[in-house]
Amino acid sequence: MKPVIAIVGRPNVGKSTLFNRLTKSRDAIVADFAGLTRDRHYGDGHLGDREFIVIDTGGFEPDSSTGIVKEMAKQTRQAVAEADVVIFVVDVRAGLSAQDHDIANYLRTVGKKVLLAINKAEGMQESPHLAEFYELGMGEPHPISSAHGQGIRSLTEAALEDFDFGEEEEVPEEGAPIRLAVAGRPNVGKSTLINTWLGEERLVAFDMPGTTRDAISVPFERNGQKFQLIDTAGLRRKGRVFQAIEKFSVVKTLQAIADANVVLLLLDATQGVSDQDAHIAGYILDSGRAVVIAVNKWDAVDDYQKQQLQRSIEQRLAFLKFAPILNISAIKRQGLGPVWKAIADAHASATKKMSTPVLTRLLHEAVEHQAPKRAGMFRPKLRYAHQGGMNPPVIVVHGNSLEHVTDSYKRFLEGRFREHFKLVGTPLRIEMRSGK
Ligand code: GDP
Ligand code: GDP
Repeated sequence: MKPVIAIVGRPNVGKSTLFNRLTKSRDAIVADFAGLTRDRHYGDGHLGDREFIVIDTGGFEPDSSTGIVKEMAKQTRQAVAEADVVIFVVDVRAGLSAQDHDIANYLRTVGKKVLLAINKAEGMQESPHLAEFYELGMGEPHPISSAHGQGIRSLTEAALEDFDFGEEEEVPEEGAPIRLAVAGRPNVGKSTLINTWLGEERLVAFDMPGTTRDAISVPFERNGQKFQLIDTAGLRRKGRVFQAIEKFSVVKTLQAIADANVVLLLLDATQGVSDQDAHIAGYILDSGRAVVIAVNKWDAVDDYQKQQLQRSIEQRLAFLKFAPILNISAIKRQGLGPVWKAIADAHASATKKMSTPVLTRLLHEAVEHQAPKRAGMFRPKLRYAHQGGMNPPVIVVHGNSLEHVTDSYKRFLEGRFREHFKLVGTPLRIEMRSGK
C-alpha cells in the first residue's frame, strides 16, 4: 500500500504549490487534453521508485472566525485521519501566527508523524526568522521553497523514511491472475455488479475465507482466466454478498487503482458524467493502469439520455479515449460478456511484449512517413526504441536532440505503435532519451 501524506496549514502558506510540486504529472503529454480536471485534492507522487499519495487541504480552509481547533474544517481532519504522515506548512515571510500554534496543538493530539515545513524560504536559508518556528515544538523544521523546488527532496525523504517499499515486480508471472478493481462513485452500481458476477454460474468464486474487515480480495475464475477482485472503495463483504456500507474514500480508491492491473470504471447512465466521475477517471489516467469504462443502468435511460450521455463522455473523459466504453445493466445482467472480453484485452495490451527490433523498425517507418520538425539548429534524430516497462507499457526512444520532439509528434508515434500492436484499453507512454 502506498503511504499517504497530508499537507496542512493555514491559508496562503503555499500548500497547493507544494501539492503541485509533489504530484507533478509524469506524463506531460496528457496535460493539454481538454476535460482533464487538475483541481484535485488527491494526487500521486513519487521519489524515484517510491510512490505515495498526497492529500491537499488547500481548498478546505479552517474557519478562522470561530477558532481553529474546534472548527478545523472537517475535510482537514479527514485528510489527517487518512494520512500516514502529515506535512505542516508554515510561511517564513509571514512569520509565526496564532493559527500556526492552534494547528500545532491539534496535530500533537493525532498521534501521527508530523513534519514541519517552513515554506517560502528561498534565499533565506540562514535567516534568523527560521529559528522562531522551533517554538511550535514540532521538531527540526525543514526550510523549503515550494515555488522554486528547494528542499522538497529532503522533506519527501524524511516523510517516507519509515516506510518499507518492497521490490516492485516488473514482469507479471505467466498465468498470474488479472488484478481487477471496480471503481466509481457511490451508487453507480458497483456492489450490484460484483454480486451479479459472483452469482453467475459460469463464474466460479473460490471459497471465500472469512476475511478481516479491511482486506477484501476475491479470487475467481471465468472462462479459464483467473481474476483477483481487489478491495474496492466503499464495499464490504457481508457473508456472500458485497454491500456498500462504508463512506466513499478517495484514498481507498487510489490504493485500489494502484493495486490493480485493470480498472473497471463504472458510470451511472441516469446521472451523466459528474465531477466526481471525472476526478476518479483522472486518477486512473495518472496511475497508468489499463481501463475499461462501463456505463451501468443502461436499462433505465431513454434515447435522448443516451445521446446526452455519449456527448458528456466524449467531452469530459476525452483523456481516456483509449478506453473501450460498454453499456451494461448490472441488474438485468445485460452486456456483461463483452465487459470480460474488454478487461482481458486491456490486460493483454497493457502487458504486451514489444521487441526492440520491431519497435525500432516501426520507429524508422514512422520517421520515413513523417520526420520530426527541425527546432532552430536542431533536427531530432530518432535512432532506436526499446520497451521500458509494462502496465503501462513504456516505449523508450533513443537518439539525439530528442528534447526538441514536440508533443504532437509523440502522439503521432503513439498512434503508429498503438495501431501496430493493437493496443486497447491501456495508456502508452513514450519517453525520449537523448544520447550524449
Ligand atoms: P495555500 O492557500 O496554502 O494552498 O497557498 P498557495 O499554494 O495557494 O500559495 C499562496 C501564495 O504563496 C501564492 O501566491 C504562491 O505563489 C505563494 N508561494 C507558494 N510557495 C511559495 C514559495 O516557496 N516562495 C514564495 N515566495 N511564494 C510562494
Ligand atoms: P454502489 O454504491 O456503487 O455499490 O451502488 P449499488 O450497487 O449499491 O447500487 C446503487 C443503486 O443503483 C441500487 O438501488 C441499485 O439497485 C441500483 N442499480 C444498480 N445497477 C443497476 C442497473 O443496472 N439498472 C438500474 N436501473 N439500477 C441499478
